Amino acid sequence: MNLEKMYEMQKELDARIIKEKGLEGVDLLPNTVLALQVEIAELANEWRGFKHWSNDQEPRFNVLEIGVTDCSEEKLVNRVLEEYVDCLHFFLSIARQLDLPAEDLYVCEDVLEEETVVLFMELLHNVGLINGEKFLFQNPDNLSKYQRESLRAALFIFYNLGEQRLGFTFEQIVEAYVAKNAINHKRQSTGY
Ligand SMILES: [Mg+2]
Repeated sequence: MNLEKMYEMQKELDARIIKEKGLEGVDLLPNTVLALQVEIAELANEWRGFKHWSNDQEPRFNVLEIGVTDCSEEKLVNRVLEEYVDCLHFFLSIARQLDLPAEDLYVCEDVLEEETVVLFMELLHNVGLINGEKFLFQNPDNLSKYQRESLRAALFIFYNLGEQRLGFTFEQIVEAYVAKNAINHKRQSTGY
């Protein structure tokens, strides 16, 4: 399993949603960009490190939840990882909408020095740019180049945030993505 495979899984899920909801030909980018910003905010909310007013600033890595499975078992839930892969769903969907080649999902790795709080803000900022400032570009090719570059800048921060600040391995991310992808298919089937 690699990023290309998850990209394919996302394309399948998107195609299903577009077909079943009758969204062919609709520009879904603004909704998807906002959805990604919402998920990044949810991720920050589970990370908790910015809550200086709270005595509990520990990330919600292992939350004991009761009744989360069909048979009402207790289960340890990594809420931070869940929000992280919710973000990944929308990142991959945006990549598809911008026709990003799969190899461009990979960005160089680097150690980022900024505080995690700053990384979250920069991430939200770069994601906001993906929708494109259309008044700046006469040429549609320049607009899509700008959008793809903003996406890749956001991905760069997102990957580093996951690895360096939240401590996720690629294997953990893949496993959580695959599980959530299945849940999202199920939600489509049950009229979520
Ligand atoms: Mg979420």
